[in-house]
Amino acid sequence: NQGIIQTIDIKKHFAIGRQQLVKSVDGISIEIYQGETFGLVGESGSGKSTFGKTIVGLTNPTEGAVYYEGSNVKDLSKKEQQRVNREVQIIFQDPQASLNPRMQVGDIIAEGIDAHGLAKGKQRKERIYDLLERVGMNPDVVKRYPHEFSGGQRQRIGIARTLAVKPKFIVADEPISALDVSIQAQVLNLLNDLKDSEDLTYLFIAHDLSMVKHISDRIGVMYLGSMMELTNSQKLFNEPKHPYTQALLSAVPVPDPTISRRDRIVLQGDPPSPVNPPNGCKFRTRCPHAMEICSLKAPEWKEIQSDHWTACHLYS
Ligand code: SF4
Ligand code: MG
Repeated sequence: NQGIIQTIDIKKHFAIGRQQLVKSVDGISIEIYQGETFGLVGESGSGKSTFGKTIVGLTNPTEGAVYYEGSNVKDLSKKEQQRVNREVQIIFQDPQASLNPRMQVGDIIAEGIDAHGLAKGKQRKERIYDLLERVGMNPDVVKRYPHEFSGGQRQRIGIARTLAVKPKFIVADEPISALDVSIQAQVLNLLNDLKDSEDLTYLFIAHDLSMVKHISDRIGVMYLGSMMELTNSQKLFNEPKHPYTQALLSAVPVPDPTISRRDRIVLQGDPPSPVNPPNGCKFRTRCPHAMEICSLKAPEWKEIQSDHWTACHLYS
């Protein structure tokens, strides 16, 4: 498996006033494999969206580098960077906010086609129709406006616009969280189908594990700007190593009460804030296993088994 995206020690820090340093992303090194869905999970304030934005180049990291198909994006020529900008895309949570209300659907979808000079005239029109069909919309909506559609349909239009530029890698930042529960599964299935038909790789961001369980090949768990654990989806659910992952999983309701439930771990202490985070292990203020070393030294990000990474002193 070859990495399509690699991040090397990505940091995004900023100051608020004189006293407060926000470590929104605090040194993340991961590889995302070609063709996989990488689920990225964390509570709000964990930095997952900011991390996603650094990967697509929407925000510059304070430190660190993003590699795309083996090259540091910063070292590429202008022309190559344009290609990367086209091939690496992001889908946002709120389809309402990302569609220009004064533009017709057809022109919204064609924005990227025009910007990158991908098609003109009849070809452009055919491409728009084709994209609408691919996302399950009737092509006769081209002259209508975003407000005429439901949230789910607007997200489909947004997906069509993203696909228009022939991306290879997409950050999907909570793409179904703002939608009615009744249509979440439909949009999730659409994204899943498109992954195969369009040969895509996803970084799929969500705030809870159950959302990404069935669609992810591997899952990464973030806490206060740091990656806590990363492994394949099955292993993460069956053999979670990090106390934070264990706590998240023990909070997931078990549907069948006759199945024995994991001993429930209750998170202690304050909810997380990325402002002046604890030194040492950031999870130590809420960790049931915290030891002396946990406040002295940040645990190393380590591969403790094949393709199973974690940052915790219990494993060093
Ligand atoms: Fe808990 Fe220490 Fe591991 Fe952090 S390093 S998760 S505080 S045991
Ligand atoms: Mg977010």
